[in-house]
Amino acid sequence: IDWSADAGWHNARVEPYGPISLDPAASVLHYGQEVFEGLKAYRHEDGSVRTFRPGKNGERINASARRLALPELPVEHFVEAVRQLVAVDQDWVPSGDGEALYLRPFMIATEAFLGVRPAREVSFRVIASPAGNYFGGELHAVPIWLSQNFARAGHGGTGEAKCGGNYAASLAAQMEAEAHGCPQVLFLDPTDDFSVEELGGMNVFFVLEGGTLVTPRLNGNILHGITRDSVLQLAREMDLTVEERKFTLDEWREAVANGTLKEAFACGTAAVITPIAELRSAEGTMVLPETTSDSVWGSIRAKLLGVQRGTVEDTHGWLTRLV
Ligand code: PMP
Repeated sequence: IDWSADAGWHNARVEPYGPISLDPAASVLHYGQEVFEGLKAYRHEDGSVRTFRPGKNGERINASARRLALPELPVEHFVEAVRQLVAVDQDWVPSGDGEALYLRPFMIATEAFLGVRPAREVSFRVIASPAGNYFGGELHAVPIWLSQNFARAGHGGTGEAKCGGNYAASLAAQMEAEAHGCPQVLFLDPTDDFSVEELGGMNVFFVLEGGTLVTPRLNGNILHGITRDSVLQLAREMDLTVEERKFTLDEWREAVANGTLKEAFACGTAAVITPIAELRSAEGTMVLPETTSDSVWGSIRAKLLGVQRGTVEDTHGWLTRLV
């Protein structure tokens, strides 16, 4: 779908996948005026294809668009674009264990203009790709790398937006993580007492003794994860005590040292829920408790994945049928 300041949204279409042409002066290439989303479509046993809370992705891309001075797209157009793409060839949607069709909606500033101001021409597109298990192979706890040289976000910045620039800024930290054998990097918030923020592509949770679930509060620098929101809802229904609050690295270290930290896990659309095995940093490795079969993360994961795959009743109305 195209947008221009004069005509608004127009020219909705489905095109064969392939390169798109952009003017070399397009704003997105120079100033990174771009936002995107990520969601998955799952094939259910009855052959239907369903996606998880797509309206939330539609609302979030608009929140990101406002921050990046891009136009908002009505949420129903967002969901309809996803539906039409999946409907072109539903054989795309894999049905294997842990498999889904990953959908990537994005909005880019296409106007050719070298001055720094919001573009007056924009394009919204959706592409798709079959996806398997995010960290490869069987589900296992992963080590994560503590970034101490780089920050992901600060007050007034774009931390809350899902924009390409945030990810560009995280790549050097991601390289550092991978050099230390970690598939994900953990960012702290230097503008908020070095509190735990999030991973490169996932939100983070802690389970403390007595069944308290803690996750960093949305302080303006953290992505409003849709999995995060769903985990919080499920946890409240499981009668866990839920705390959205500041959680510092010092508190984390202390809770590991005195044995009150029971679990740490990360969550996001791509990997659903993955337990964290250890936190590595330049100062050494902090090993986290081994996860047990009656873990909080395990039961929340089973519920969430069950709803997404259609094997657990969708009591929240989280699923939208695409095909
Ligand atoms: N934080 C970041 C930085 C992310 O890129 C993602 C993935 N979109 C998440 C958190 C998790 O968000 P969601 O549950 O909506 O996928």
